[in-house]
Amino acid sequence: MNELHGKVALVTGGSRGIGAAIARALAARGADVAITYVNSEDRANEVACDVKERGRRGLALRADAADPAAVAGAVDEAAELLGRLDILVNNAGVFPVGALSELDIATFDRTVAVNVRGPYAAARAAARHLGDGGRIISIGSNVAERVPFPGLALYALTKTALAGMTRGLARELGPQGITVNLVHPGPTDTDANPADQPQAQAIAGLTALGRYADGDEIASVVAFLAGPDARYVTGATVNADGGWAA
Ligand code: NDP
Repeated sequence: MNELHGKVALVTGGSRGIGAAIARALAARGADVAITYVNSEDRANEVACDVKERGRRGLALRADAADPAAVAGAVDEAAELLGRLDILVNNAGVFPVGALSELDIATFDRTVAVNVRGPYAAARAAARHLGDGGRIISIGSNVAERVPFPGLALYALTKTALAGMTRGLARELGPQGITVNLVHPGPTDTDANPADQPQAQAIAGLTALGRYADGDEIASVVAFLAGPDARYVTGATVNADGGWAA
């Protein structure tokens, strides 16, 4: 498992949950990994230490995904400190749940800023560093495919936007040998969606497998898309959702 040896990755929102699992999975396959975070400095540093324990260089950078200048700065800093950039994983995201009447326009703006503008800003900055074989992988959501409950319209629209961005950037960056793909996780046991919350059984019941994912089960799909075996996959949406959309 050394297929990412010599590669440098940046994972946004890598301090916890799915992003932390992705950072560890990429390091386990040989990549040096920078992560961003916004609040959890200690946990971000722990993930960077885990990367180093795998014999790779690890870096934790504070960069609010809602601030495009901070995002671009983190991309440039990661490339400068680690010498290059090969893989961008747009993972940082927020998960507002509420009725149309409850979620106001300020919440809309903040959610779109983190979940959509952040990935766009990161891709824009990363494209200046990525070369032939480069990878942009964004983390969407199962609810971009199917919205089984009320209260998810805002979150779903941000994740659906990433599908358009992915296809458009695949066309734009393909001639440079850069692939651009989207992974839709299903319900995954993290702080944002704990598998022990009261509604978890109902949520898990909407998957074909009848259970939550572990972060590692999403990270392994991202690692595949980051690796050489996925070099002919671009503009694709990959559902790692336990059959949620089946
Ligand atoms: P968590 O809430 O567990 O972790 C979120 C991560 O994103 C943390 O590292 C957090 O940093 C970071 N983050 C949040 N806001 C910002 C910001 N403004 N700037 C920088 N970093 C930020 O979420 P998950 O791991 O569950 O989710 C990760 C991704 O997967 C998200 O895009 C989410 O929408 C998506 N997803 C999750 C599913 C699930 O069931 N868990 C299902 C489908 C998709 P910090 O620690 O500093 O706060």
